Amino acid sequence: MSNIVAIVGRPNVGKSTLYNRLTETRKAIVDDMSGVTRDRHYGLAEWTNKNFTVIDTGGYVANSEDVFEAAIREQVLIAIEEATVIIFMVDVTTGITDLDDEIASVLRKSKKPVLVAVNKVDNYQLQSDATEFYSFGLGEIHCVSSMSGSGTGDLLDEVAKHLEDDVEETDSLPKFAIVGRPNVGKSSMINALIGKDRNIVTDIAGTTRDSIHIHYNQFGHEFMLIDTAGLRKKTKVRENIEFYSVMRTIKALEEADVVILMIDAAEGIESQDINIFHLAEKNKKGLVLVINKWDVIEKDHKTAKAFEAKIHEKIAPFTDIPIIFTSVTEKQRIFKTVEAAVKVFENKTKKIPTSKLNDILLPIIEKTPPPAIKGKHIKIKYITQINASSPMFAFFCNLPQYIKEPYKRFLENKLREHFDFSGVPIQIFFRQK
Ligand code: GDP
Ligand code: GDP
Repeated sequence: MSNIVAIVGRPNVGKSTLYNRLTETRKAIVDDMSGVTRDRHYGLAEWTNKNFTVIDTGGYVANSEDVFEAAIREQVLIAIEEATVIIFMVDVTTGITDLDDEIASVLRKSKKPVLVAVNKVDNYQLQSDATEFYSFGLGEIHCVSSMSGSGTGDLLDEVAKHLEDDVEETDSLPKFAIVGRPNVGKSSMINALIGKDRNIVTDIAGTTRDSIHIHYNQFGHEFMLIDTAGLRKKTKVRENIEFYSVMRTIKALEEADVVILMIDAAEGIESQDINIFHLAEKNKKGLVLVINKWDVIEKDHKTAKAFEAKIHEKIAPFTDIPIIFTSVTEKQRIFKTVEAAVKVFENKTKKIPTSKLNDILLPIIEKTPPPAIKGKHIKIKYITQINASSPMFAFFCNLPQYIKEPYKRFLENKLREHFDFSGVPIQIFFRQK
């Protein structure tokens, strides 16, 4: 399952303002952690307990006149194909333009839900002006002001109706997605794993399938591989190659249990990789980092360690994510990658018995309790793992509101120290008891 909301529309209608509003708080957190401040046009948002990835399509079109209209039209087509819900944004202050009309005619053919958001309706008077947008024939219109936030709640209520709940698929096979920038070696890796010519797979998959799922069942392991490289649609407009690949990556990532993020050894980890890394982490996915093309690196016995250190610096504070150095062309450590992903999946799905959790953690907590606040002592009484698709722990205590971030991190570290959760995000909650 995937929940992707794409905001489409011509430039300057306010797409990125809405995007920022929807992803604001999380963006700040991510930027703090990674030190990356480059433009990011997709991110995780939440409304009424539903998580979704929102993508601001505007960020992917260059502003050069000649490619412009064709690029936007193609982008809308890609959005229709890949997104769960499309927000078509227009601007009440300009009224309907030719490009709006053109986008609307593409969207009318869409089978996906399209919500018309009339932006910049900053005051009551402008609402009557907005009625002209009914002429698109795309149904109800939603008046919003992305700047002030007015109307955006109602718009999101409507969006949420079309999104899936975060349901746990317990009966299906583990899903691993191989993602990474173009040319890192994703297709080669899949070929090496399934031992067939990948073109065969591409042909069979056809063009309408959501993503390519390959059933792996060899050497004692069984899982589904989600391939983002296989169905490389030909985009007519160069600018849209990245947009398309981002859409596919987000989709594969949302569907997956474990994300195998491939990085080119010669290029190192770059901001796009970090974005994907954080999106996976925020989505509570398991992670394995694969440093491919290790054969092209001139190395001695210290090179891998140094490379690892550099990666850890970039993904801080995460320290226990498996990093595998591969050469797909020389068939090095390909099976190790599979084993790492399987192990991460096990870590993600395992349940620690309550008695064991308490036996190990309570003495540690007793020795190093949460610092008292305003003379009040905080007592953690017991711990249980909540039944969920990724590790989640509830710490029951007398004053949950007084436990601060550093102590939470301390507990997470202790959990990781005593129970192997490498490659998996952990969530910790404090509850009143
Ligand atoms: P994009 O190109 O579609 O991403 O548009 P932007 O988000 O960059 O917004 C274009 C301009 O419209 C900026 O100057 C925004 O400040 C402005 N804008 C965005 N939302 C609103 C709104 O709700 N009301 C008004 N009055 N201006 C807005
Ligand atoms: P994708 O775009 O991520 O699917 O990448 P491909 O699998 O198409 O690989 C891109 C190019 O990198 C091809 O020419 C591959 O032969 C080459 N390649 C893949 N893996 C390796 C590797 O481990 N070492 C070297 N030297 N080249 C590789």
